[in-house]
Amino acid sequence: MIEVTRCSIISIGFGEKRYAYVVSTHEDPNITNIKLDLRKYPEIKKALQSKKSVIINDALNDPLMASVKDMIAPLGIKSIVVMPIIHRDEVIGTLFLRTSKKKRFTDREIRLCKAIANTTANALYNAFLFEKLENEKERLKKLAITDYLTGVYNIRYFYHRLEEEFSRAERYGDPISCIMLDIDHFKKINDTYGHRTGDLVLREFAQLIRRHTRKSDVFARYGGEEFIILLPHTPVDGAVVEAERLRNFIKNHKFKGIKNEKITSSMGIACWPVHEINTADDLITLADHALFRAKSSGRDKIVVSKQLRKKKDKN
Ligand code: GH3
Ligand code: MG
Ligand code: MG
Repeated sequence: MIEVTRCSIISIGFGEKRYAYVVSTHEDPNITNIKLDLRKYPEIKKALQSKKSVIINDALNDPLMASVKDMIAPLGIKSIVVMPIIHRDEVIGTLFLRTSKKKRFTDREIRLCKAIANTTANALYNAFLFEKLENEKERLKKLAITDYLTGVYNIRYFYHRLEEEFSRAERYGDPISCIMLDIDHFKKINDTYGHRTGDLVLREFAQLIRRHTRKSDVFARYGGEEFIILLPHTPVDGAVVEAERLRNFIKNHKFKGIKNEKITSSMGIACWPVHEINTADDLITLADHALFRAKSSGRDKIVVSKQLRKKKDKN
């Protein structure tokens, strides 16, 4: 309806002062969310501050544009209209029109822009709100399954996945393994360096393992300084190799905040299918028993559940 070189809808992030975003532009429908540094757009900045339209008829000679004159000169911009989009007395965006041909916008064109800005306000506000809610929903969803201290999955998520993966394993007769880990003599780290350093070591420990586990495995904090890994599609041999790999990573890692102490961990492994495991809970219980034996046999050890060994020996 109006002959312009460029026409965009600019959004102003909630509480944002320095940046604005091109949410849509007529040149390319695929463009969304290009970040604009408002220092380079004094005309938009002015519209935001004054909540009034900014109309520039001779961009290169307008005092408002002096600071960006060199930047806009090569673009050949002559006239500009910035029309604020106002919702409940707050500028949530602007229409942004620029032309390189004609010298000035007519009154009729400016009135038209104003009418469009007014009718757009509600729709735009709803769109922003919807996007914000979607992001918030995602954030809460992630928060609900994340352990606060270590940043890895929490036990709630682990149990949810355990049920799912165990049923799948049963349905397809696919092996599934579980590794239970416990940091050795962790109390000593707390006693020597304090609880805060203990917390940081715990976080570093968790992140180290997370980095070194496969995407398809589920790694979670079980509680305190105990962790658990579920390995779908993995028979016992594979789980042992994985546990050994992790044990070495941990042993050779230099943890921040502690001096000479080596951090080691003990691990217990259980694997389905065996006669003794009928439920997902049995898998965890056997891994836990194996972990107990790894501790009793001197720590920094990996022990496979006795039941699995028995069955193997028999065969
Ligand atoms: P081991 O497992 O080798 O038998 O010895 P340990 O000292 O690690 O085991 P124990 O179960 O006796 O103590 C666990 C320690 O872990 C004690 C507790 O203060 C510490 N711990 C558990 N959760 C946290 C936590 O969130 N932060 C810190 N800093 N320490 C924790
Ligand atoms: Mg421990
Ligand atoms: Mg423990």
